[in-house]
Amino acid sequence: MVNADIIAIDGPAASGKSTVAELLARRLGYLYLDTGVMYRAVTLAMLQKQIPVNDEAAVTNLAREIKIDVRPPSVEDQRMCDVLLDGVDVTWEIRKREVEQNVSQVSAYRGVRDAMTQQQREIGRRGKVIMVGRDIGTVVFPEAGLKIFLDASVEERAKRRAKELQERGKTIGYQEVLEDMKARDRIDSTREIAPLKPAKDAVVISSDGLTVDQVLQKILNLLNK
Ligand code: C5P
Repeated sequence: MVNADIIAIDGPAASGKSTVAELLARRLGYLYLDTGVMYRAVTLAMLQKQIPVNDEAAVTNLAREIKIDVRPPSVEDQRMCDVLLDGVDVTWEIRKREVEQNVSQVSAYRGVRDAMTQQQREIGRRGKVIMVGRDIGTVVFPEAGLKIFLDASVEERAKRRAKELQERGKTIGYQEVLEDMKARDRIDSTREIAPLKPAKDAVVISSDGLTVDQVLQKILNLLNK
């Protein structure tokens, strides 16, 4: 049995990491923390305050000032957690396209990453947590007991995301989702600080053609080794 007080699951957008991590957390009685929501909340706050995305100093100050809370879901509307920005529920607002189109630039800023990483480490140190993101295994918790890098082709991921959005009543098509996703992948994986990449000791799983249950089973097998 692996001693995994912290389980790190990284990977690109819509690789299935949040769904699998949430199920795994429930199974193990762990806390589930999706760190992407924190970067999304900073981006939403920036848009609300009409701070230009190129103004790194102002965006960084904002990231330090705002209060982001991530809590277990209080509403049954398919959310995996509640996200509060200065006390206001922004769980669905952080999913909008304008946030997605700016989040990668915001999260490339050193000061923004430092502020978020610090909060993530404080939460993780309490133990028994599954943390999901882009840099958990490489930067936030390189000492995590189990590190997974969940990947899938960009076409498969865009297909999943477009379906998800359509089910939520959004009109965005596959082609737009694909273009947005490619742009985000490119910025996330080429940025100087904490780029998206598997840790040297991460287990890389491709979720192409696998069901959520099959991915979950692969991770459970690794834990039971
Ligand atoms: O996972 P999700 O797609 O919600 O993440 C939104 C964005 O937040 C990513 O595209 C990435 O730019 C940023 N992010 C990050 N580091 C993390 C988690 C997310 O830079 N640990």
